[in-house]
Amino acid sequence: MNTLSEDFLKELECPVCMEYMASPIMMCKSGHNICNSCRPKLKECPTCRQPFLNVRNKALENLSLLAKYPCPYKRYGCQLVFTQERITEHQTVCPYRSYNCPLSEAEGIMCKWIGIREDMREHIEAQHRNRLTQVDFLKEVLLRKYRPEIKYSRVIFACDEVFYQQFEVIDNVFYFVIQHIGPENYDLKFQYNFTLASQEHEESISISFVARSCKLDIATIHRSGQCVKLCFDTVKNFLNENNSLKFEFYIRQL
Ligand SMILES: [Zn+2]
Ligand SMILES: [Zn+2]
Ligand SMILES: [Zn+2]
Ligand SMILES: [Zn+2]
Repeated sequence: MNTLSEDFLKELECPVCMEYMASPIMMCKSGHNICNSCRPKLKECPTCRQPFLNVRNKALENLSLLAKYPCPYKRYGCQLVFTQERITEHQTVCPYRSYNCPLSEAEGIMCKWIGIREDMREHIEAQHRNRLTQVDFLKEVLLRKYRPEIKYSRVIFACDEVFYQQFEVIDNVFYFVIQHIGPENYDLKFQYNFTLASQEHEESISISFVARSCKLDIATIHRSGQCVKLCFDTVKNFLNENNSLKFEFYIRQL
């Protein structure tokens, strides 16, 4: 028995929470099943009002190991099925799993949107056009009246993908991070390059890093040093007299 039908999966649904049951599956006096997280919350079987027994349905537990469950992101379009054992592993890399808006933590925005990657572009174009930068090749950014106490965050469209850019100064360290909006072990890698140059180009700093996943939090990326991390005294050399900061960056697929 390799593939178990949808009817069988129905049998594995807990009558209370409707989630698929996994070991241990408990039974009532008349043989109805209940999942392990609902069981302690109930005094009696919700189907027949008989008390629960301290007995597990071993046969159903064994069958549940053979069953192939649909990916929890099925409603977002994932067609894949997995055994209980493999499903958690898949969930962490499923391309259909949902994402927060890249600007969910951005100061003054804190957008509450959640959806799939495929819908994100539309959301950003509709709601955050003023925070969107399209980068086809090299992007030159000039910030007038640059203020180091502000966290600058933007959404970037580049290489047909969505990225999040954030730079800020914490404890006299300048951080510049670009995150890829995608799962952690995505099959494509993207490199970003960040360049600061003085007006006459006699002094410059140019650094490249691989864009980390948006699933990693920024503080972790800062700590790991896998981002542009410069002493702010160094960056100050590139501020011109009216405190404007000019930098260049690009993103390319590796
Ligand atoms: Zn349940
Ligand atoms: Zn019952
Ligand atoms: Zn999936
Ligand atoms: Zn948003």
